[in-house]
Amino acid sequence: MHFEGAIDEATGASSVPLYQASTFHHADIEQPQTYDYSRSGNPTRQPLEDYIAALEGGVRGFAFASGMAAISSAFMLLSAGDHVICTEDVYGGTYRLLTTVMNRMNVETTFVDMTDLDRVRQALKPNTKAIYMETPSNPTLKITDISAVTAWAKEHGLLTLLDNTFMTPYHQRPIELGVDIVLHSATKFLGGHSDVLAGLAVAANESLARRLGHIQNSMGNVLGIQDSWLLMRGMKTLKARMDAHEQSARKLADWLASRSDIAAVYYPGLPNHPGRAIHERQSAGYGAVVSFDVGSGERAKRLMNKVTIPLVAVSLGAVESILSYPPLMSHASMPKEVRAERGITDGLLRYSVGLEDIGDIIDDLEQALAD
Ligand SMILES: *Cc1c(COP(=O)(O)O)cnc(C)c1O
Repeated sequence: MHFEGAIDEATGASSVPLYQASTFHHADIEQPQTYDYSRSGNPTRQPLEDYIAALEGGVRGFAFASGMAAISSAFMLLSAGDHVICTEDVYGGTYRLLTTVMNRMNVETTFVDMTDLDRVRQALKPNTKAIYMETPSNPTLKITDISAVTAWAKEHGLLTLLDNTFMTPYHQRPIELGVDIVLHSATKFLGGHSDVLAGLAVAANESLARRLGHIQNSMGNVLGIQDSWLLMRGMKTLKARMDAHEQSARKLADWLASRSDIAAVYYPGLPNHPGRAIHERQSAGYGAVVSFDVGSGERAKRLMNKVTIPLVAVSLGAVESILSYPPLMSHASMPKEVRAERGITDGLLRYSVGLEDIGDIIDDLEQALAD
């Protein structure tokens, strides 16, 4: 998709200018003007917000200082006394927000296994107002049937939110499947270069867009001007990066699945993935994240010490490969028994496949797995 906003109307410049300004002169005080103060709107941030709205097929986009700023702002649509149904495999930061901050605002949450629609139905209460999805989930790539959840939510008048960070709008467009608000940690694939922290939200209809715009302006947690520019620069290559990431991730998943010394491989593109059929119905690709269990914590730690290609770090979705160890990184605060129930065993690693040559990535893992 080509984005017209990428060309500067005034000069024809090939990229959006950096309008490094906090405030705007009122040429005629009687007339309303497009921009008056950069918290409410900025001519560098605006094209980014239009860009993500177009990619997701929504009516309006919003850029925030981080993924969590976007997610927490979306939860501000709720009021004290409301109840949320949330996927149990939700991103750790969202879990923390719901269980340690929103609970103090008297917004209560029930976490359910969203691969099972009956569990979602059973969680409904008289005060349920919203459903929060994340698919594929992190780190075991479980699949939620988006259309089934949104159809049920509409029957009960519930707001639906979906964190689309892992798929990006290139692979998955949740608004077409009935979702009301799509959220992103743009820090990951959309930015794509591990150099900018950002969040995006897209509203599916005008009334939600108005409410979310009001919240963004009231909370003031907007994305800065230079970061807006950097994020747009990353997004220009989204398709090329996602295609390359995915091609390599599929090869990596197949290679891992063919080895007898790997206890489990989680990737929605593998034939034995339980959510594969649903995922293929709602997404155009399998993404770049492959999780696998090497059998023990000792082996996982040995591997992390021996790999030479990936960054060993939290985060994902960048040009460079990133290897994470969920038990000690993203899911460290989760009790060991709960981790085990969710497949987050001591041997579990999560590989976000970068743009390096896949032959090199596999050779590197092969030597790191040799005991
Ligand atoms: C990283 C991440 C977030 C949080 O985004 P930040 O930009 O780190 O605030 C939310 N959801 C998912 C799925 C993520 O991977």
